[in-house]
Amino acid sequence: MNFQNTRSGSDSEDTSLVPWWSTMLAVAAFVGWQVVTFKIFIPNNPHPRPIAFVLFWSVMVGLFMAFYMLMIGYVNRDARRRGMSPSFWTAIMIFLLASGIGFIVYFLLREPLVLNCPKCEEKVDEEFNFCPRCHYQLNPTCDVCKHGVRLGDIYCAHCGNALEMAALDIVRAR
Ligand SMILES: [Zn+2]
Ligand SMILES: [Zn+2]
Repeated sequence: MNFQNTRSGSDSEDTSLVPWWSTMLAVAAFVGWQVVTFKIFIPNNPHPRPIAFVLFWSVMVGLFMAFYMLMIGYVNRDARRRGMSPSFWTAIMIFLLASGIGFIVYFLLREPLVLNCPKCEEKVDEEFNFCPRCHYQLNPTCDVCKHGVRLGDIYCAHCGNALEMAALDIVRAR
């Protein structure tokens, strides 16, 4: 007995795991995400990140979105095979994707934390080195070029100045 004959005719027309439209969507999602990242997020980001970091994440997120498009196609087809509502389960998948994208966009576009200066209570960005109102030192800086430096650095990464340990004690004492 041939089991293929016991199935409905439409099932044997296309036996691939995902429908063609979800493959198309996967390619479009990957390309689309790269365009959005490099044309919208990067030019609008007030705190640019290293290009290798951006490239890594845009490819990872792009691949995830492409994979998700294939998953939507799979769910759509698999639900139909099991006599479940394909449109209902496809809608659920799209809703979950939309909330995931919303989350990612929020983290890419959110503003830096707003803190208060410990001395004068002025609102300051977490990346400020000095309070713009009272000159309080918020983060360790190089004495020579005033660029921010990290705790534990021995030389300034910007000008090569040998850092005074006293400058670093300010932050350590807090
Ligand atoms: Zn201040
Ligand atoms: Zn310096």
